[in-house]
Amino acid sequence: MFSRARQVDRVVLDPEERYNHAKSWNSYYKVDTTPDAIVYPKSTEEVVAIVKICERYKVPIIPFGGNTSIEGHLASPRGGVSIDMNLMKGIKELHIKDMDVVVEPGIGWIELNEFLKPFGLFFPLDPGPGASIGGMCATRCSGSLAVRYGTMRDNVISLKVVLASGDVVKTASRARKSAAGYDLTRLIIGSGGTLGVITEVTLRLQKIPEASVVAMCNFPSVKDAADVAIATMHSGIQVSRVELLDEVQIKAINLANGKHYPEQPTLMFELIGTEAYSLEQALQVKKIAEEHHASDFVFADTAKEKEDLWKMRKEALWACTTLRPEAEFMVTDVCVPLSRLAECIYTSKVLLDASPLICTIVSHAGDGNFHTIILLDPQSEEELKEAHRLADEMVKIALAMEGTCTGEHGVGVGKLKFLEEELGQEALMTMGKIKRTLDPNNIMNPGKTVPPEFCY
Ligand SMILES: Cc1cc2nc3c(=O)[nH]c(=O)nc-3n(C[C@H](O)[C@H](O)[C@H](O)COP(=O)(O)OP(=O)(O)OC[C@H]3O[C@@H](n4cnc5c(N)ncnc54)[C@H](O)[C@@H]3O)c2cc1C
Repeated sequence: MFSRARQVDRVVLDPEERYNHAKSWNSYYKVDTTPDAIVYPKSTEEVVAIVKICERYKVPIIPFGGNTSIEGHLASPRGGVSIDMNLMKGIKELHIKDMDVVVEPGIGWIELNEFLKPFGLFFPLDPGPGASIGGMCATRCSGSLAVRYGTMRDNVISLKVVLASGDVVKTASRARKSAAGYDLTRLIIGSGGTLGVITEVTLRLQKIPEASVVAMCNFPSVKDAADVAIATMHSGIQVSRVELLDEVQIKAINLANGKHYPEQPTLMFELIGTEAYSLEQALQVKKIAEEHHASDFVFADTAKEKEDLWKMRKEALWACTTLRPEAEFMVTDVCVPLSRLAECIYTSKVLLDASPLICTIVSHAGDGNFHTIILLDPQSEEELKEAHRLADEMVKIALAMEGTCTGEHGVGVGKLKFLEEELGQEALMTMGKIKRTLDPNNIMNPGKTVPPEFCY
């Protein structure tokens, strides 16, 4: 929570704080420049006032949420004002009968779910612990449950956004679906703070399932594990999670949590529904896994065991510090059509295993999405070069399979260089026109999401 000083002081100039607002936790991104000031608004009206001043003096704005983004989203190459949304964490309306909630953008998904639990409801997106709803909209994030519930794109009903002009736009009504006009909600989702500052979000909620079955099993290779994820999806079984971890990642989890899981490629599943239904589905998954050389198929018995397992998975990134304590991380995030997942992971794994750097693989396998965590000393030019080589090669492999350079982390600055190959010039020029129209003075998180040469 906030220190006393931060609660009182809503304009902060302290150099250390400014540095912390330009650098995401554990990210290898170097901070050469920081925002000139941090401001903590408490309302949409205050955001409007800040934006209008910045627009008048052409000062960059970098909205700031939970600071868990991965691709240098919070870098402030031209200084400017970091608008920290952490004093806007309110829950404005809960509509139980409509299964939706209206919140301020600074609230975290974990806090929101704690609030919703007594009502038997939850919000199914689970990116980094600490991530805020505003940042999750801006990155179009997803997570382990996206295979069942979709991404942020599918779970936001409407937004309130402050544009560079200071105009406040409500993007949609509260109806669950609408065909009214252009879809401004989805234009803002994934825009990385480059089109406006989100000050209110209406979210679609889900019912907490009656029962869940969580299981784990191991495989001789990542390809076998990925094949099972694909076969499970093809079988029509509605998994709510299917996560793949390679043997290096399992070793990190063992070290970080004092566990003794077999250090082999591993799949973790979750099936939900009634008790009988989820168990029946889990047994079908077990059968599929065993047809693909699975071993050690185990079920998590208690609610606590299930919770611990997902927590360990969620914190897999931080577990990697046990493999090389002083290292920082370069995390890649590619996604390919489901049928290409096994081939893409296998090809990438061969590349990574041949590198002198320690690399782990974690995957939201049911969506064809996977990450490599590359551990490096950012002071070592040689290691930085090698990490970039690996990350770039992985993106090339994914693009060659009709995939994307980012399934969920977003573009930030790190993925800008791949967009032309992935999307083509025409798409980027269209994005550039939108950016120029909504933000003619380029104050909204400049230099992110769309390559600047296509914008101005
Ligand atoms: C351990 C770990 C696990 C992770 N797992 C996942 C995962 O499974 N899936 C996934 O998708 N991601 C994952 N992430 C990445 C990260 O959590 C997501 O990208 C998340 O959505 C970022 O939210 P944030 O609040 O931290 O945003 P920030 O880092 O604060 O900001 C991200 C971007 O959003 C913009 N922004 C923030 N608030 C607003 C606002 N109110 N209005 C406009 N723009 C705004 C910022 O300017 C910036 O460009 C993980 C990260 C970590 C560290």
